[in-house]
Amino acid sequence: MSFITENIFTLKHQLPSSVKLVAVSKTKPAADIIEAYNAGQRSFGENRVQELLNKKDFLPKDIEWHLIGHLQSNKVKYTVPFISMIQSIDSYKLLVIVNSEAMKVGRIVDCLLQIHIAAEETKFGFSMNELSENLRSADILNLRNVRICGVMSMATFTSDTDQVRKEFRYLKDCFHSLKNKYFESASAFKEISMGMSGDYELAVNEGSTMVRIGSLIFGKR
Ligand SMILES: *Cc1c(COP(=O)(O)O)cnc(C)c1O
Repeated sequence: MSFITENIFTLKHQLPSSVKLVAVSKTKPAADIIEAYNAGQRSFGENRVQELLNKKDFLPKDIEWHLIGHLQSNKVKYTVPFISMIQSIDSYKLLVIVNSEAMKVGRIVDCLLQIHIAAEETKFGFSMNELSENLRSADILNLRNVRICGVMSMATFTSDTDQVRKEFRYLKDCFHSLKNKYFESASAFKEISMGMSGDYELAVNEGSTMVRIGSLIFGKR
């Protein structure tokens, strides 16, 4: 058994069945993705549109692709026709563009709102204030070709587990407060995408419904 197959099996065994595993295949060749696919994995995450477009034509059509990196406006039209979920919606403007491109191709695209929780300045995402403003004015809720399925975030890259736990708790609180205020009747709004190779166990303990794991499956990048 290859190490990729073994890693997938180990993770699937460890994760509660309620937690979805997204295998993050960025920088890895199609052959590695096929190995994971043959081990039963169907959801894969990529962070760059061009790389995703280059790879996907060589890969099985029933793969569910998740975009997990910052999406530039001019790349939306290449992404929307096939993407399974855009996890990295980080501005209202981006959501509007995704909605209009999705309308053109007759799709409703699943999206997550990326929320900024990390101490680092560089990570993309909404603040809760921004999000509340957009939602209060009901702007977001009027977009018919996007389905908002929950929230996504990355914790600070640190060995301080208390810090990381605090950030995951904050994201979960954000999820519940958005759910209660704006998405009470939206059954699709149920995902909390948090947890990567270094912190997924912590994330699962704090209520993650979706983990995005790369190096622990495919090896170091
Ligand atoms: C790269 C990446 C991951 C996976 O990181 P690993 O540490 O390799 O598991 C998860 N989420 C996002 C947004 C990423 O860019």
